[in-house]
Amino acid sequence: MTIFAESALLGSEWARNIRVIVEDGRIAQVEQGAQPKDHDIQVSVLLPALANLHSHAFQRAMAGMTETRVEGRESFWTWRDLMYRFLDRLTPDHIQSIAALAFLEMQEAGFASVGEFHYVHHQPGGQRYDSESELSQRIFAAAEQTGIGLTHLPVLYTYGGVEQQPLEGGQLRFGNRVDEYLNLLEACRDRLPLPDSAIGIAPHSLRATSAHDLREVLDHTTDGPVHIHIAEQVKEVQDVQNALGARPVEWLLNNADLNDRWCLIHATHMTDAETIAMARSGAVAGLCPITEANLGDGIFNGATYLPAQGTFGVGTDSNIRISAPEELRMLEYSQRLRDKARAVLVPEAGSVGQTLYCGAALGGAQALARKAGQIAPGYLADLVAIDRTHPTLCALKDDQVLDGLCFAAPNGLVTDLWSAGRHMVRGGRHIVRDAILPAYRTAMRDLLQNV
Ligand code: ZN
Repeated sequence: MTIFAESALLGSEWARNIRVIVEDGRIAQVEQGAQPKDHDIQVSVLLPALANLHSHAFQRAMAGMTETRVEGRESFWTWRDLMYRFLDRLTPDHIQSIAALAFLEMQEAGFASVGEFHYVHHQPGGQRYDSESELSQRIFAAAEQTGIGLTHLPVLYTYGGVEQQPLEGGQLRFGNRVDEYLNLLEACRDRLPLPDSAIGIAPHSLRATSAHDLREVLDHTTDGPVHIHIAEQVKEVQDVQNALGARPVEWLLNNADLNDRWCLIHATHMTDAETIAMARSGAVAGLCPITEANLGDGIFNGATYLPAQGTFGVGTDSNIRISAPEELRMLEYSQRLRDKARAVLVPEAGSVGQTLYCGAALGGAQALARKAGQIAPGYLADLVAIDRTHPTLCALKDDQVLDGLCFAAPNGLVTDLWSAGRHMVRGGRHIVRDAILPAYRTAMRDLLQNV
């Protein structure tokens, strides 16, 4: 397969009249100053597609249901209450149908791959399914149907709080001891759905695991990504400080060998010293700006982290909205509102949109252990094409296109998307949309009957 693009972003440089030759899901060759040939797929602007480094696919089904105020009880924790009520009802079929819709929407929105931080493992009440990997297999089926690049991140969730409280209520569906968890990992590893699928580990948070268990799991898994929720809520930071004697990021820096395998999700609450030390560690900051805004978490210390050469990527987390450009816009705008300044996340000079897009492309790919994030030979063909004839973009120069996309354009400018060379979005529509939407509507009717 060959793609001809009128313009394309190669590394951090724009080039014209590009032919990208794809073989076995990877970019085999990139020709510049070329002419289109007969069977080439022709697009306007070709970009490396972003990796969505953090998703809980099932939460897509709750989008729009938690935006009301309950007198006297309005917080992150009431959102979590509804999530737990959902968990009393979710069946494997529901989980598969919701994940398929979420993955489809991610691809239509410009994400070629997803890190699925998967923590629902058991039946309501905690009873085991016949297969320990039943619900992971439902995620795999959704990935196979949509063709999205999947890095599966089964979650270790053992305790109900930082003092090693027992699990209760909805949490019973998450729980595994370390030995059970390691069995689950092996079962998943044997069944990954697509050639480019990968697996990593995800100790849920310092609330839901212990220092001892974390060490044991890390000792057993010496390669692949390590994702953890780290410092999302102020209360979480205080709880960890009280129990472990250090702030969460500080504790990890002192007690784990933080390196480029790690992705710290919601590194929201960090001191400047933590921020700089984390940047130097090579770990990826897994930022989910739309969800963090929706849940009222706080603002990432980006103005310190990026100049310290910190690596970052973006994730859709709760999937309340699924849009790659919107994540980058929210990331920059939150910094502007806090600092009363413009163009905050460009350490020296240059386009904000391009700096954020290229940074998130490479950081997201690193977090998912995908060789992707740029258009170059040997890289996975995780690619997205956008429509430059749209009025918002037609007057912009090449090096303004990503500013237009991130700050000015409506959604829906994605014309085509490839996940490891699989051409899943064409003409702005996912090719299996007509199968996935009815299944999703049926699942939602069933799920909401008694919630
Ligand atoms: Zn999360």
